[in-house]
Amino acid sequence: ELAPETQRVKTPETVLKDVFGYDAFRDGQGEVIHQVCEGKDALVLLPTGGGKSLCYQIPALVRQGTAIVVSPLISLMQDQVEQLKALGVKAAYLNSTLEADEQARINDALQAGKLDLLYVSPERLMQYYFQQSLAHADIALFAIDEAHCVSHWGHDFRQDYRALGQIKSRFPSIPVIGLTATADSATQADILTQLNLNDPLVYKGSFDRPNIRYRVMSKYKAFDQVVAYVKQQEGSGIIYCNSRAKVDDLHAKLFRQGFRCAAYHAGMDNDERELVQRQFLNDKIDIVVATVAFGMGINKSNVRYVVHHDVPRSVESYYQETGRAGRDGLESEALLLFDEKDAARVKQWIEQGEIAERNQIELQKFAAMEAFSEAQTCRRQVLLNYFSQFSDSACGNCDICLDPPKMIDGLVIAQKVLSCVLRLSQQASSQYVIDVLRGKQLRRLQEAGHHQLSTYGIGKDKSDSYWHNIINQLVHKGLIRVDITAHAALRLTEAARPVLKGEVAVQLAVPRLEFKPDKKKAKQ
Ligand code: ADP
Ligand code: ZN
Repeated sequence: ELAPETQRVKTPETVLKDVFGYDAFRDGQGEVIHQVCEGKDALVLLPTGGGKSLCYQIPALVRQGTAIVVSPLISLMQDQVEQLKALGVKAAYLNSTLEADEQARINDALQAGKLDLLYVSPERLMQYYFQQSLAHADIALFAIDEAHCVSHWGHDFRQDYRALGQIKSRFPSIPVIGLTATADSATQADILTQLNLNDPLVYKGSFDRPNIRYRVMSKYKAFDQVVAYVKQQEGSGIIYCNSRAKVDDLHAKLFRQGFRCAAYHAGMDNDERELVQRQFLNDKIDIVVATVAFGMGINKSNVRYVVHHDVPRSVESYYQETGRAGRDGLESEALLLFDEKDAARVKQWIEQGEIAERNQIELQKFAAMEAFSEAQTCRRQVLLNYFSQFSDSACGNCDICLDPPKMIDGLVIAQKVLSCVLRLSQQASSQYVIDVLRGKQLRRLQEAGHHQLSTYGIGKDKSDSYWHNIINQLVHKGLIRVDITAHAALRLTEAARPVLKGEVAVQLAVPRLEFKPDKKKAKQ
């Protein structure tokens, strides 16, 4: 059926070219694809847009049998399958939106070995009947998209994903590849454990988006700030708010001011939402005011700015949402309007969650987001550090780099904190460390005998928020690590040792405890 010249041996390279029409692999893709083709397990951590799909799609075509792709989002499944079909790949999806006879037809195709890829939801994968069907099928590999959903430490834990760990024990000889754009170290380690991967290749790409300029402004008159900002921008933008009501309200006000904008949130019906997406994609509107519901699967390359009208709940969400700017590689901006009151409100919401353990994790995640917002050091370093991609040079393209705060010799200040952390056996949270530093007369300190430590009271002259700020800076510099798996205990890193010994210098920013509006923009 195929012309003889296209019937060449399938290798990752020929499939890349013949099926997908690309000339070269991106960083990491080649290695991952070759290893998975040879049957090895893998975990791929790449930012959104980094090219994760090919990492399983190509092995799916090279290896004998059908690749089973687990994906949590029905709309994404459909898009992917349509794109693959357009390339001549035999792809299908199975989920609850299909009629029973359609489902039966796809199951038959699976049994007959007529599919290259089959996309399924996690709950489908775990269904008894489907498992029976898999047992008789020829399976090339399992791909777990959005693999962070398997982890409690991830920002989007899903109960359905929990059972995916069984795949490896049921099909020990079939390679499993997990893929995610989330990569803080606790989540990463947990994914490996939960999925039960066997000596996997872990590939982690760069999370840096150098063309996005990060800025944080104190929020004081949100609407005026947004209007002033948007008026200065050219091209399209997204403004994220954290509730539907705020989206509707901000959208109505912007619309009245004559901006070409639309609202987008999960309370609108499908047709309306699709219309907004299409209009935005085709540049018929400039601004979408949205909740987090807007994003997944939006492939607009020329978004010039993303505004966070409200602080997001986690660094992961912030990174994903800001990552929708500048896909085309051109200069773009991410602006966060930060307000202590918003932060307090978010914490309240989190605390109202039903599962106490879950709330604790979310509070830690939000603490990292707060720390980013209050950072006095290069924002990009803070972000990349969060994703365990350490970098020791400032970026030159964030508000802190462009308008640096005042730096001082912070060696003694750092030593005070680090030695206090050490004296507390690296078991104490930052608030507890601060209580000791400030020599507070608290019963729990006294009961633990901590009022007798040599570091008790050595930081009396400064406020709680001063020390929070300093501790955050030390975290951002990689001297202290917050262990979210141990009640947010502060731990020292290797890099703390020479600081304690006084062998290296430590530059710290004088804490700017008041948020000031951005000088440059405020002048205009
Ligand atoms: P992710 O799933 O990591 O968000 P995708 O797999 O959707 O990213 O890939 C993002 C875009 O990059 C897609 O348009 C894809 O076709 C393209 N792409 C991926 N790999 C390559 C490559 N080797 N060469 C050229 N384009 C690629
Ligand atoms: Zn910077």
